[in-house]
Amino acid sequence: MIVHNVTKEEFFTILKEANRKLDFDEIERAFIYAKKAHEGQKRDDGTPYLDHPVGTAVTLAKMGMDTTTIVAGLLHDLAEDTTISLDTIRRDFGDDVFVLVRGATKINNPTTYNREENQIKTLQRMFLAMAKDIRSVLVKLADRMNNMETLEVKSRDKQREIAEQTLDIYAPIANRLGMGEMKGQLEDIAFRYLYPVEFDWVEKYAYRDIQRRLKVVDDLQSVVQDVLKDAKIDVVATDGRVKHKYSLYRKLLRYNKDLDQIHDLVALRVIVPDISTCYEVLGILHNNYQPLPGRIKDYISTPKPNGYQSLHTTVQVQKDEVVEFQVRTAEMHQRAEYGIAAHWHYEEKTLAHVLGKRHSVKPSKKELEWVKALSKWRNEVQDSDEYFESLKIDFFKDRIYVRSPRGDIFDLPEGSTPLDFAYRVHTEVGHKYAGAKVNGRIVKMSQELHNNDVVEILTTKNADGPNRKWMDFVKTSNARAKIRNWLRDKNPTENIEIGKQILDRRIQFLTKLKLSTFIERLTDEDLQRVLDAVEASDFDHLYEALGNGSTTIETIQEKIQRNDPLLFGRIVKLAVHEGLKKEKVHRIDNTKKIRVVVNNDPSLQSSLALCCKPTKKDAITGYLTKKKGIVVHQNDCENLDGNLDKSKFIRAVWEEQFAEQRTITIKALVQRKPGSLRDMTSEIENSGLNVSNIKAGLLNEKQGYVRVQIFVDDITQLEDLCRKIEKLDYVDEVARI
Ligand code: MN
Repeated sequence: MIVHNVTKEEFFTILKEANRKLDFDEIERAFIYAKKAHEGQKRDDGTPYLDHPVGTAVTLAKMGMDTTTIVAGLLHDLAEDTTISLDTIRRDFGDDVFVLVRGATKINNPTTYNREENQIKTLQRMFLAMAKDIRSVLVKLADRMNNMETLEVKSRDKQREIAEQTLDIYAPIANRLGMGEMKGQLEDIAFRYLYPVEFDWVEKYAYRDIQRRLKVVDDLQSVVQDVLKDAKIDVVATDGRVKHKYSLYRKLLRYNKDLDQIHDLVALRVIVPDISTCYEVLGILHNNYQPLPGRIKDYISTPKPNGYQSLHTTVQVQKDEVVEFQVRTAEMHQRAEYGIAAHWHYEEKTLAHVLGKRHSVKPSKKELEWVKALSKWRNEVQDSDEYFESLKIDFFKDRIYVRSPRGDIFDLPEGSTPLDFAYRVHTEVGHKYAGAKVNGRIVKMSQELHNNDVVEILTTKNADGPNRKWMDFVKTSNARAKIRNWLRDKNPTENIEIGKQILDRRIQFLTKLKLSTFIERLTDEDLQRVLDAVEASDFDHLYEALGNGSTTIETIQEKIQRNDPLLFGRIVKLAVHEGLKKEKVHRIDNTKKIRVVVNNDPSLQSSLALCCKPTKKDAITGYLTKKKGIVVHQNDCENLDGNLDKSKFIRAVWEEQFAEQRTITIKALVQRKPGSLRDMTSEIENSGLNVSNIKAGLLNEKQGYVRVQIFVDDITQLEDLCRKIEKLDYVDEVARI
């Protein structure tokens, strides 16, 4: 927020409005401290420098951030722009504030002249800071927000540079952290400075439409409120929101600048107390207004990668007027606006009272996983261009746009398949799916679609209709729901039988026991606990749900693991025990001198490298040489670096490790289709499992088989593989032998 010359009193009035549950004494101390430190400093336009940290702090307060973060916002520029050091801040304000200020300071502007390199450096620093305490990135974002809001005072060059960096880094980060409002604002300001002509164009071009549609939405609001009131729906709020300019501009470019294609120019938000009411509202809207086909998006059951949740639907409200509705709970709304910052918001309001302390709620591990994944990945990808490209993909592209042969554009989530597309076009097209062509070529059902693909669905009248396997090939909840409904309408007894078979296959695969035998190993109490954990009334219900596709083995496992971890542990232990006990253990050959097994074959000879002299505590790898045969090096031996021939690397393990592994054999029956045996084999080779032997052959005209011997030391590896293989569309059956 832009502030000018605020007095302490004015500052606190704003803070109290934003968030009443703050430690105002501590904030006051920081305010006075920052004021003194920045005394006499001016910004480029001659206004007091203090306006900037105060504006930053206010933005943080409005995001619902806690006292520590707001204090850090006030102090964030001290270490760089004043005589006060980070250590002094630590002494005067404690470790938490210190970590945040240090994090925000370190992210600061890079020093090289290469734009891409700068971006990467900044991102790297950002990831590092995030891993320590994500709040430091929120300080940085609020800092950037204030810099953008006051960009006017900078030189033209500086404006461009800062705006560019904002579009490249800060807006995507805000987006990835789910902070929709901040992302939109940052982008719009950057847009104005970077592309003034386009900015004006969008504003003028869309202005009349926006005004008209705002009016429509305004009128609609009271109508909808009445309708919902009649249906006894508790509405928390409704409001019309206008699409941000930059995202509108980008969307216009995709739709040949045709405003009629942009249905969410102005959207009407309906905020209700809970999730079931969201779906109820959706139903009521569809009863009252004709929904546009393919425009219903269920981001509640399938949230966007950044956590965004809502139901979207576009309906016809008048003859030539369509309006997008966004239905969500108050909590989802908070998260959509403030993203990860909403965590601190809730804490202030609810948990803090219960727990009696302030900073107890942190973003979940899962939400931070991508940060870790990205920084780890950075270490693996040497080529910075490649890394940056992939970063861009992860940040920007969670939707793809594909076309029908007639040229209609459909947007789908990334990773969608032709089957998703078919259901998107029409339910019947989905049900009658017989195959698909992408860009003129026949593809598999599991083929991932890409931007600009032209997708043609081949249908047949006498199709069998969906089967359970189809669920594995769809990404969209829309398609999944339609398949599920179709399956559910089938006979329940049939579904119970199918569900039983599914579970039986998996249990047999893992344990070599029949489902019924495995169940006998569990006590009645355990079985009841299984039912409780998965919230099923009896096993027939569970089988039925599995059979009709409304649940999966993975979901069942997750539920047991989450709701009854002790029981889960016991079942896994039992499965591992049963599953591996009969498999053979390798014997160590004591007569051999070098105790290394290469290429999973104890009879192969090898020698230890003289350069790095591996010992038993080192991880090792073999390399095939012309003169000395297989030489075993330490994994990180310098001599293995550089441009060695990848195909000459050979797996090597110490014999003790080898002895602990067990071999299992699995057999998969596959349909005889061009390339199916090869695909299957490569799937196994790429699974990261330690394969000792693969055999493949034909059984008859229609079927072939693949037999694989694998070393396993952990049942979960096996499970992963089984899941992957079963998902291949030409695999009929997988079993252990
Ligand atoms: Mn600053």
